[in-house]
Amino acid sequence: MKPLLELENVSYAYHSKNGETFALSDISFQVQRGEFIAVVGPSGCGKSTLLSLISGLLRPEGGRILLEGETENTFREKIGYMLQKDHLFEWRTIYRNVVLGLEIQHKLNNESRTRVDKMLMDYGLYRFRSARPSELSGGMRQRAALIRTLALDPELLLLDEPFSALDFQTRLSVCDDVYSILRREKKTAILVTHDLSEAVSMADRIIVLSARPARVKKILRIRFAEQAQTPFERRNMPEFKEYFNLLWKELNEHG
Ligand code: ADP
Ligand code: MG
Repeated sequence: MKPLLELENVSYAYHSKNGETFALSDISFQVQRGEFIAVVGPSGCGKSTLLSLISGLLRPEGGRILLEGETENTFREKIGYMLQKDHLFEWRTIYRNVVLGLEIQHKLNNESRTRVDKMLMDYGLYRFRSARPSELSGGMRQRAALIRTLALDPELLLLDEPFSALDFQTRLSVCDDVYSILRREKKTAILVTHDLSEAVSMADRIIVLSARPARVKKILRIRFAEQAQTPFERRNMPEFKEYFNLLWKELNEHG
């Protein structure tokens, strides 16, 4: 099967008047449709830069990035981006926040409204559609941000440390929520995280990056004996610790 996303020898440097920051070096990997990929690596190594390149916000200096076999600019529409901060607008209700992307892209119609309503119902926010973001818990806000991203029906979701602003307990339950929502909606996702347990508990494969300029150090396939566990359940399985230790070693090895 043709991969949804292909990176071929991608490199990137920031140029400023104070000099160059070489961020990514010769990055190659592929993502299949429906896969959940986690990207881990030391802080400042170039993880967010990688997502900006994939989303089309930045252009690679070397190599190329193909989405469904194409390098063209149709990119953006097929990609949803979710960040650490939920960026919900306080002056809009939850509903008006969730349909914001649809409004901007002139895609708010009966069909998209039905899809949004269904997601709000399925994911426990329908009751809160007239509430303001400040009335919701951190976890609910993140769910609302995810629904806003999914409302545009993207092919590929990019998640940049989306849970790191949440406290530990909320983070565990939001992880489970986001994971089950993405599986159910059959989305392909790339999650950037510095939290190794988050990566092991959610991903099908983990891409380990080196310190800056980031290179692909290792790609680790994650397999648990039993099928269809939640991230929370995975944390209690024997394989979890093995993968965690493997990653830990990989990241603390120099070179
Ligand atoms: P990560 O997300 O892994 O923490 P980033 O991709 O944000 O890392 O950054 C990689 C490197 O590029 C860092 O050294 C950072 O300081 C630098 N960098 C990020 N954005 C810019 C920018 N707009 N201009 C110059 N340097 C940048
Ligand atoms: Mg970052």
